[in-house]
Amino acid sequence: MANIPEKYAAKIVSMMQADEDTIHLFWSPAENAVIQLTSTIFPEDVRDPLDYMRESGMIEESSLPVFDVFCAKIESGILSGTDTNSAGTDVSVKLPDSDEFVMCHLYALFLRGEDNKVTDVHFNIRPYSLKEQFDRDVLRCFTSDKNPKLFSRRCANTVKANPDKNIAFIQFDVERFKLINETYGVEVGDELLQFFNDSLALVCTEEQPFCRLTADVFMIVTVFDKRDDLVAFIRKIESMLCGYNDMEYRLVFGVAEVDDRTAHTRRHGDNASLARQLIKGNALENIGFYNSNMKSKLQQTQAIEDDMHKALLNGEFLMYLQPKHSIKTGKIIGAEALARWQHPTKGMISPGDFIPVFEQNGFILKLDSFIWEEACKRIRSWINNGIAPVPISVNVSREYLQTFDVVEKVQSLLKKYDVPISLLELEITESLDGIGVDDIVKRMKDAGFTMLMDDFGSGYSSLNMLKTTQFDVLKIDRSFLSEFMESARGRKIIEHTISMSQDIGLDIIAEGVETIEQAEFLSECGCDSAQGFYYSKPIPVAEFDKRLVEINSKQ
Ligand code: C2E
Ligand code: MG
Ligand code: MG
Repeated sequence: MANIPEKYAAKIVSMMQADEDTIHLFWSPAENAVIQLTSTIFPEDVRDPLDYMRESGMIEESSLPVFDVFCAKIESGILSGTDTNSAGTDVSVKLPDSDEFVMCHLYALFLRGEDNKVTDVHFNIRPYSLKEQFDRDVLRCFTSDKNPKLFSRRCANTVKANPDKNIAFIQFDVERFKLINETYGVEVGDELLQFFNDSLALVCTEEQPFCRLTADVFMIVTVFDKRDDLVAFIRKIESMLCGYNDMEYRLVFGVAEVDDRTAHTRRHGDNASLARQLIKGNALENIGFYNSNMKSKLQQTQAIEDDMHKALLNGEFLMYLQPKHSIKTGKIIGAEALARWQHPTKGMISPGDFIPVFEQNGFILKLDSFIWEEACKRIRSWINNGIAPVPISVNVSREYLQTFDVVEKVQSLLKKYDVPISLLELEITESLDGIGVDDIVKRMKDAGFTMLMDDFGSGYSSLNMLKTTQFDVLKIDRSFLSEFMESARGRKIIEHTISMSQDIGLDIIAEGVETIEQAEFLSECGCDSAQGFYYSKPIPVAEFDKRLVEINSKQ
């Protein structure tokens, strides 16, 4: 055993004697060599057993994601040399003398030289017997996801055992997990959760208890030094858990740092949960830290949720219209439909308060359908009353795109009210949450709809996406316009964005135009369409009708 440091040799020999079914290997990453001790499962010239196992098809496909996490853990151990002494996982492996995959335990122990650098990895593969597999499954039920009581005790122990250290309760779940079940099927959803469980077993140490609480919600408790270290740990979990089978999903984390050590662990868990729920839907950040203001925010959210169904039935939601104008002629060339909530006791609630809540709880689907129908009704009433109609654009939430067939829904409304397709336009915000909308937009365009990209330049959309976009119109966001207009350089950027977009055949409309200077500047840049307070705020439909007739009938 030339490469095995003396101090490990005796222990390893005894391990080998103790269980004969286990396949033992030594792998010297530095020397690029594998020594096979008890088996010839790999060809002679194998340099990296992990690569070989992956590429030769020895690992069953369903085990590959966990195997990859295992490999990453080994690699990080070899490279960093300090934080990991071993890694183990269960994967389904086909051994060379067999045609079938069997569940095996893979285990890697890092052997270190004088300077604590990893010189060799003692790597072993042990097939489980059927009895062991059964026991293991039973044990898993009791030790992880099915036994929160045990977990709660372990959390309490962690808090107690570390009186002088910082402790955090971390909760995470998958944003819109329901969509994964709907898109890929419940079985794949379950596999994903099992993968999370297996990966956490690899990432977390003995001192970092974790548990699946319910559905897709997991919790981990950890000791940490500084906030930065805690964030680094969370990012590590995130990178290990994302990208299962190339699926696109996003994890959302809530963190409660333990302040009161006498409080029940449940309270820290609840605080982490609150932080997680409140960070949901935030496109830029996916780690929320609990603070005491969050409780009142939650109460507001709950009040909205309590009232929303009744509100729809009672007709408290209203469609307001904000005109879009031609800068040159001043005429109304269209309108955007914006929802308002006329609450019986709280007065007018603005969309900024309720749309994010509805996007979270799915109620946005109902509100969107309602507004689209109102828009169709309005157009029909213009036509019936001899008012020259202008197109109304409606907002389509991304939730809708993923869940329902928007094309079918809108087409049926157009038919119901006999509205030409050119008069109902669709606005979608292009955001960077990992789920592309290109295909859906293309389908809508193919069906004949005019597609507007909302909030262009607000930070989510990028020039890069112009390359492949299927949209017809860009709506320049208010913040882009107001911020960039402040400097000469910014004005150049607006000017070029407009001319470039027009060059590639996109129309442009500017949102949030508040001053005559802005309108004139846009006009100079070649953009003739504008929407904003300079022209009009969003107004009730009756008022809009009046303005439409007055302004557009002028010569
Ligand atoms: P949005 O689609 O980008 O709508 C434009 C927002 O900018 C509206 O805010 C409008 O009132 C505001 N705005 C327009 N001109 C000006 C201006 O000159 N200055 C300023 N400061 N603001 C201006 P609103 O009505 O509060 O709606 C906010 C957002 O809520 C909308 O942004 C849209 O994303 C969402 N929303 C509103 N109604 C609906 C709806 O029915 N369905 C969906 N899915 N989202 C909606
Ligand atoms: Mg909009
Ligand atoms: Mg907008």
